[in-house]
Amino acid sequence: MRQRAYPNWLGVQPAPAATPALHLLNGLWAASCPSCGYQLATARTQARAERRGRRRACPVCCEVA
Ligand SMILES: [Zn+2]
Repeated sequence: MRQRAYPNWLGVQPAPAATPALHLLNGLWAASCPSCGYQLATARTQARAERRGRRRACPVCCEVA
């Protein structure tokens, strides 16, 4: 019986494109990764920050080789 453990990180997305966490910093909205807190984008409006944050994959959580 042969059992082989394949590394399954290839097809797995640890952090699916979720809604980024939004923070208001000095009048500027910052979208950050909900998992690790990495700042993905900043914008003047909450909607823009969220939109930009969604389009960017977190380089920390979704590290692509
Ligand atoms: Zn992250």
